[in-house]
Amino acid sequence: MTTPTIELKPSSHPLSDAEREAILANPGFGRHFTDHMVTIRWTEGRGWYDAQLVPYAPLSIDPANMTLHYAQTIFEGLKAYRQPDGSVATFRPAANAQRFQASARRLAMPELPVETFIAAVDALVTQDKAWVPSEGEQSLYLRPFMFATEVGLGVKPANEYLFMVIASPAGAYFPGGVRPVSIWLSEDRVRAVPGGMGDAKTGGNYAASLLAQAEAAAKGCDQVAYLDAVEHKWVEELGGMNLYFVYGNKIITPELTGSLLAGITRDSLLSVARDLGYESEEGRISIDQWKRDTENGTLTEVFACGTAAVITPVGTVKSAQGEWTQSSGRPGDVTMRLRKALLDIQTGRAADPHGWMHPLG
Ligand SMILES: *Cc1c(COP(=O)(O)O)cnc(C)c1O
Repeated sequence: MTTPTIELKPSSHPLSDAEREAILANPGFGRHFTDHMVTIRWTEGRGWYDAQLVPYAPLSIDPANMTLHYAQTIFEGLKAYRQPDGSVATFRPAANAQRFQASARRLAMPELPVETFIAAVDALVTQDKAWVPSEGEQSLYLRPFMFATEVGLGVKPANEYLFMVIASPAGAYFPGGVRPVSIWLSEDRVRAVPGGMGDAKTGGNYAASLLAQAEAAAKGCDQVAYLDAVEHKWVEELGGMNLYFVYGNKIITPELTGSLLAGITRDSLLSVARDLGYESEEGRISIDQWKRDTENGTLTEVFACGTAAVITPVGTVKSAQGEWTQSSGRPGDVTMRLRKALLDIQTGRAADPHGWMHPLG
């Protein structure tokens, strides 16, 4: 099966420069979308076809669309950053493309070729380049996704799908300066189980997390940390961000067991930390160890990481076992050093020793 070329059908009525600038002055997150989107179809027997860049517009969905009932849908998230010379580059798009293939395999969906994924993202960013903000930590957030388009209520892998890419300008995650998040440690609700789909980026995992998230909010916490589903003991992730534990000069992140998502920020930080002279490793952290080592002072900082916020310090942790606070509730030094190092690579203020940046022509 060949890779389709993307036919460009740009909008005849994009937003004016003034309207776009007004949005970019305060973009928030996921509230505004650019002028265009990319769509590619897949049908059994035919493969990928009908690749187009078209004006951003609503879709018309049949009420018996299989995704609405059985949730066969996956997504990705990556960012395009304005570089000091005014050009634009995306961060590790091939890693997102490969993870999208892994998610597709888990949900019995067709795998989009890596080069088609990258071509689709490139086409949208190139067309809507004026939407890439240039202020500080702002970026253009890219959301590739795919869902079943077959109509019918029989339960089976669908025989047709739609792949799309949309883009949304993203403001600085912490406009008022980096602020630690508070965490609710959920000891009863889980987001993923062994053999389940916790390592796939799919809406179902998010649906599973919403009730615990609402409970966390009711307890005054920003985020939920999930434990493993069998022993309810091993720390997994936040449900949208991975976790790192800082022991002095060493940073440790929970190993990939199959029930947590292999974050690209998580993976990048294993290398960035080594570049800065820290030790970095994957391991297991129990909830008891988290509490004990905070109290005995060996666990000096904890932070969460993901594409949207890059790095977020963890402040207060609440659980049924009590409450404790990391690094006196202030962003830790290691956390902030890693955050700056990664953002400097992404925004082109530092060299890119790992070849992570993908410049757009
Ligand atoms: C996307 C995601 C992350 C973070 O992954 P990044 O590639 O770093 O953005 C972490 N956990 C879950 C469940 C996710 O969906």
